[in-house]
Amino acid sequence: VDSLLVSEIFSSVQGEGINTGRPATFLRLAVCNLHCWYCDTKYTWLFNEQMLAQVQNEMKRLGINDTRPDLRVYDKNEEAKGLSISDILKQILAFDCPHLVITGGEPLLQQDSLCALLERLLEERKFFVELETNGTIKPGKEILDIVSQWNVSPKLAFAGNGSYASEKPECFETFKKLNAYFKFVIQSEKDLEDCEEIVQKYSIPKNKVVLMPEAINSRLLEERGRMLFSYCKDKGYKFSTRLQILLYGNARGK
Ligand code: SF4
Repeated sequence: VDSLLVSEIFSSVQGEGINTGRPATFLRLAVCNLHCWYCDTKYTWLFNEQMLAQVQNEMKRLGINDTRPDLRVYDKNEEAKGLSISDILKQILAFDCPHLVITGGEPLLQQDSLCALLERLLEERKFFVELETNGTIKPGKEILDIVSQWNVSPKLAFAGNGSYASEKPECFETFKKLNAYFKFVIQSEKDLEDCEEIVQKYSIPKNKVVLMPEAINSRLLEERGRMLFSYCKDKGYKFSTRLQILLYGNARGK
């Protein structure tokens, strides 16, 4: 528990969800238990040919013909560094920002070490800690007291993980009791139906639902954003854009 597999640590502005626009330090952890074809951080988990084939097969099964240049194998030694907690602590404190976003990959895969890091961090300084998760791993008791806000992003059918992997009822029930927002990534009207099914099934309160367009360029962000904008208005959900895509395209570390 004295090290973490880290993808990147950087300073930016939160570009998504209810804290959009807030300056923050980002700690991106490597490795994910899901393999969404549209994931824009494939460099945190797509480390071998077998995984690539698995993603491509899922795309074929779903009839998705998308040729994104980031759909390739990444070098794990380059992209996932085992860093000591002291090292990470130093880097985060150096940015001198009271808002920390922990993201991935799936950060809860490393929750024991993450807890150790956050405990030490909070001894040093007060932080607002936001954690992004795909909602398939139950947070342990220790981390519940440390994280200020949970951004749970349930994966819909079009992500290509199969419902067995991406829908864990006991996790939904746990997150619902926390300060959590459920951020759904949407491409089409069919995704809105799938999203609605989850919202109804788990009785997620309207003010906890955030809809965000799936888009890695500003043209798609606008097109899909317009559809979601009116849907959110009618339903009483929160709408989220992706500031970093609008300003920088799909660049890393922004
Ligand atoms: S759950 Fe998130 S990090 Fe993991 S593959 Fe899907 S989009 Fe990427």
